[in-house]
Amino acid sequence: MVHVYAIGLRTRFRRITVREGVLIEGPAGWGEFSPFWDYDAAESAAWWRATREATEQGLPEPVRDRVPVNVTVPAVDAALAARIVRDSGGCRTAKVKVAEPGQTAAQEADRLAAVREALGPEGAIRVDANGGWDVDTAIDRLRLLDRAAGGLEYAEQPVATVPDLARVRRAVQVPIAADESIRRAEDPFAVVRAEAADIVVLKVQPIGGVRACLDLAEQIGLPVVVSSAIESSVGLAAGVALAAALPELPYACGLATAQLLTDDVTAHPLLPVDGALDVAAARSLRPEPERLAAVAADPETAARWRHRVDQVLAVAG
Ligand SMILES: [Mg+2]
Repeated sequence: MVHVYAIGLRTRFRRITVREGVLIEGPAGWGEFSPFWDYDAAESAAWWRATREATEQGLPEPVRDRVPVNVTVPAVDAALAARIVRDSGGCRTAKVKVAEPGQTAAQEADRLAAVREALGPEGAIRVDANGGWDVDTAIDRLRLLDRAAGGLEYAEQPVATVPDLARVRRAVQVPIAADESIRRAEDPFAVVRAEAADIVVLKVQPIGGVRACLDLAEQIGLPVVVSSAIESSVGLAAGVALAAALPELPYACGLATAQLLTDDVTAHPLLPVDGALDVAAARSLRPEPERLAAVAADPETAARWRHRVDQVLAVAG
């Protein structure tokens, strides 16, 4: 049985305002399939492998019982940024979106300063540009934002390409994390060969499952930050399983994104308590029938997703 959900986002993200996806219950548990609409069937096949892992195989055993998480601050004004941090369930790390088209350096610096104020001197602040800067802008902006934030933990994908990441990394003190250069790359090891990153961001669905991520992490040999694709709590649970199974977890993970949704598929969404997600809660998470009904997509949207699953099955089997 395929359940198609549609849940609003509190703030526009990746140019979307509603998150949609498919939930499936299999013999091993619940899985989520929710590639963004700009991903074709071939690219969505990895997302489907992650779904199948959760439903058919189940998720690996954890080595820790809680996963520290970051609050995600969209490209909003300073006052709202501070409020998001204060309402984050005790998160002591913030990831702040930057390089939003149409916004100025001053707006970004104000946002970073407000986040530092709300988080306090002990908190960690990272920025995510989603590849939106060119090399010169990234170098200038990271120096500015590093000062505005009172120190940046790292900068995620400041520029789009691996050679450009390497150039920025050589020019700035701020450590560099690769996200899109891993999950949408033909060759995720190009980042390692080019010495283009200090940290890699792994997301379960785009990489093709928790075990695929564990294998990739071992081969890459850099510290890993597990992030979500802004899924429902079912998809987040697979991210928690990865974060809980990694041998080392030196950074807070980007898995507190249930906060970005206006609703969820369970009455017990995976939200942080004291800045962390509970691994046992993620492992026992099941969507309730009444919640699935409450967030069910309209028939036209549901039909589009069923068609999408059929297309991916034709590619992936
Ligand atoms: Mg990112």
